[in-house]
Amino acid sequence: MIVIVGGGIIGLAIGWELAKRGVPSTIVERGEAGRGASWAAAGMLPPHAEVEPAEERLLPLLLAGRALWPAYAAELTAATGIDVDYRTDGALLVALDRDDAAQLKFRHDLQRRHGLTVEWLSGGEARQLEPYLSRAVTAAVFSPDDHCVDNRAVVVALAAAYRGAGGVVREHTEVVGLRIERGRAVGVDVAVGVAGRDAGDGRDVETLAADAVVVAAGAWSRGLPGLPEIARPPVRPVKGQMLALRMDAAAPIVTRMIWAPDAYLVPRGDGRLLVGATVEEHGFDTTLTAGGIRGLLEGAWEAVPGCDELPLIETWAGLRPTSRDDAPILGPTAVEGLWLATGHHRNGVLLAPITGALIAEGLVTGGMPEAGRGFGVERFG
Ligand SMILES: Cc1cc2nc3c(=O)[nH]c(=O)nc-3n(C[C@H](O)[C@H](O)[C@H](O)COP(=O)(O)OP(=O)(O)OC[C@H]3O[C@@H](n4cnc5c(N)ncnc54)[C@H](O)[C@@H]3O)c2cc1C
Repeated sequence: MIVIVGGGIIGLAIGWELAKRGVPSTIVERGEAGRGASWAAAGMLPPHAEVEPAEERLLPLLLAGRALWPAYAAELTAATGIDVDYRTDGALLVALDRDDAAQLKFRHDLQRRHGLTVEWLSGGEARQLEPYLSRAVTAAVFSPDDHCVDNRAVVVALAAAYRGAGGVVREHTEVVGLRIERGRAVGVDVAVGVAGRDAGDGRDVETLAADAVVVAAGAWSRGLPGLPEIARPPVRPVKGQMLALRMDAAAPIVTRMIWAPDAYLVPRGDGRLLVGATVEEHGFDTTLTAGGIRGLLEGAWEAVPGCDELPLIETWAGLRPTSRDDAPILGPTAVEGLWLATGHHRNGVLLAPITGALIAEGLVTGGMPEAGRGFGVERFG
């Protein structure tokens, strides 16, 4: 029996892969499954658009992860009947002035050096793809292999697929302690019911025995009670505010992902247009701020002025689980039977299928597969 701490997209993806391999597991989730960062995300799967100089080490994992998505989305839909809105229209990165264009050119050249498929466009060519783009757009990069998915539909589908394959999700159940005996993880203590953060508040506490424990608790992974220092992942919360506008689904004004200097826009098949996201270091605070929302609306308006006319239908904030080097923390720890799958920062949706496969395979075979090596917590010393 494997216990997975946290029912976000990462915990669910691991659980589903274990179930497919015939390994029994229980996911323990203190709230509702999939309602953490995985609900807040934009669902972009863009290793191409986002490549930065410091991320070159991570790029092979991002590309391998993205390659799994088309089949993964199809398999999820086949297993559950849930359409996860997998879209293959690509992404446009746009420049609004000379400085933006210089930066975009630098990024374009870097992407080309990595052998990625990207195309340099004039403003006019970009407007042929997206007619509602501002006249101020002077240049753009088209990245056809950048896809996106409805992450909320994905977590709902993953929970259904996992349960359908025999997995157990225990919601409103908080892990309040890790049981380690003779240097080995043997289970977790859980407090059952909706309550405050600590046990001893009237909730019943029980112990779940396990052959291995996987910590997939997102931004909260570092503070998990009972984690020994040697296995504590250096993960912190990085806040992201987002909002959604409502387009006419039959005549959307944005049809593919658009990355502007101060906001990105992600269309959904049902007519929603997501606008994100701020990047803020505010601990576990998820307050929406006037400045955050104003910045996103301005950033969207600068790229697509027609956004001004659209109804604003939702605002929210979530916490990215971010490691010290922005790469995920995957694999076994110095404590036997204790595994980590956290720190996915802004790539958790993209990396969910590959994380699920690597961790499940690692648990079955007793060691991380080659593609996941080098991402263990020991790299932080
Ligand atoms: C605004 C925003 C936009 C984003 N956009 C994208 C994007 O476009 N593409 C992309 O790939 N990624 C994106 N991300 C990043 C992505 O959302 C995360 O990397 C990913 O969701 C992390 O998944 P997770 O399962 O680790 O964390 P979470 O979804 O946060 O799940 C962790 C779960 O653990 C539970 N938990 C915590 N402690 C305990 C405990 N003690 N006991 C029981 N349960 C516990 C929590 O309740 C939570 O449900 C975005 C993130 C944000 C915030």
